[in-house]
Amino acid sequence: MIYPKTVYIHTIGCQMNVYDSERIAGGLTHIGYRLVSEPESADLVILNTCAIREKAEQKVFSFLGRMAGLKRKNPEMIIGVGGCVAQQEGRKILDRAPYLDLVFGTHAVSRLPILVQQVETSGGRLVDVAISDVIQETPVYSVSSVSEQTSRFVTIMQGCDNYCTYCVVPYVRGREMSRSPERILSEIQALVDSGIREVTLLGQNVNSYGKKEGLCDFSELLTRVNGIEGLLRIRFTTSHPKDLSSDLIATFNRLNKLCKHIHLPVQSGSTRILSRMNRKYSRDQYLEKIARLRDACPDIAITSDIIVGFPGETAEDFEETLSLIRQVAYDDLFAFMYSDRPNAPAAHFMKKISETEKAERLQQVLGLQETLTYEKNQSLVNSHQVVLVEGVNQRMNTSEAFRETTPQWYGRTPGHKIVHFPEPARLSGSGNIGSLKTIRIEKAFSHSLWGRPVSEEG
Ligand code: SAM
Ligand code: SF4
Repeated sequence: MIYPKTVYIHTIGCQMNVYDSERIAGGLTHIGYRLVSEPESADLVILNTCAIREKAEQKVFSFLGRMAGLKRKNPEMIIGVGGCVAQQEGRKILDRAPYLDLVFGTHAVSRLPILVQQVETSGGRLVDVAISDVIQETPVYSVSSVSEQTSRFVTIMQGCDNYCTYCVVPYVRGREMSRSPERILSEIQALVDSGIREVTLLGQNVNSYGKKEGLCDFSELLTRVNGIEGLLRIRFTTSHPKDLSSDLIATFNRLNKLCKHIHLPVQSGSTRILSRMNRKYSRDQYLEKIARLRDACPDIAITSDIIVGFPGETAEDFEETLSLIRQVAYDDLFAFMYSDRPNAPAAHFMKKISETEKAERLQQVLGLQETLTYEKNQSLVNSHQVVLVEGVNQRMNTSEAFRETTPQWYGRTPGHKIVHFPEPARLSGSGNIGSLKTIRIEKAFSHSLWGRPVSEEG
């Protein structure tokens, strides 16, 4: 085979899938593939899939349908499906999509370059969905190269042992396992050396990092990451409320690079529903953790996930979710309509909520949060916020409201809010990207803030 061949990678799903796609890209470029941005011109198409909700799974098969047409035009094209749906369905996807060449599961990412080479030489159809009881590391080179990015995800653990009754993760990503601190640190160092300034450490429950393996604990890992020279910011997700420790709460004040933001998914405001979800905390216990976080760190940004329409969720249960959202006054949240997942016990629970009712409840949650986010953003007007600059706005805002014609940049606050600000290019150039700037916030909108660099104020 003559290289360079081209690969198009399509990612559906969460940050972990984004991270896995970077490993996939790194491994394939190492064996000579070049990344392209359209499937039409690719020799190899990889779809990295998500099974968390039914909708994500439907996207997989509609994307594959499109690829069938391309394969008819170019029978040499290799098509591979990886990620959570691949893990869940295995060989069954080959039956459903006869034009598919390769199915690789969540633990097979490190073996993908070899699998692709096998398909290239044998032309056969392969399935690798073996689940391993040790972490399948990819070499550091396989974190794909960085272009004009400031921020990257780094998975510190995989799998989950919590078995929330609605969730497919333990079945498609396996049991919880932590990567060694040395691996994590050397990967972050390599990212920093290539220009990355912020990392988000990923795990389904970062608070249990290292416990099974007897590695250092999560606070210690954060402390070691904080010591990496050239790294400016650290974020992490997700912390399970049942395991949020005093030690972790204390790190927000102890570590200068750790952003004061926590994503603490509550899922429901009703203790009865939380118990049916197997979340292992009550409404009061959750609120008590929020109070401790705010005591220790009054300006911390708090975000959450909510599931509406879990089986058996009554109007009263749902009202408790709305009242909890109001009480906590989240900075932002992600809300989802409950969907049955294969293997997850809640798929067999009685008293399913209708799609119409779920959609109605979702709109109520989103509407309430929109108001709360707007109020939170308004409260930041006149404050000084340190933003990590991520880029230049392609469309310059020259509206009456701003009367600005200078380039407009954007970045994020420690609380993950987007801030736009004008600054003449001659003062900054592209060197702005990846730097920290103090911005005085002048205007607040529902989804962003607007301000000016403090040094410009005179
Ligand atoms: N490990 C994280 C935790 O415990 O909060 C969550 C990870 S999961 C990938 C992301 C979110 O998807 C969950 O917090 C939940 O709100 C949502 N989710 C998971 N299963 C779902 C289902 N069956 N239906 C609807 N939403 C679901
Ligand atoms: Fe799923 Fe629960 Fe594990 Fe999060 S903690 S990944 S919701 S089983």
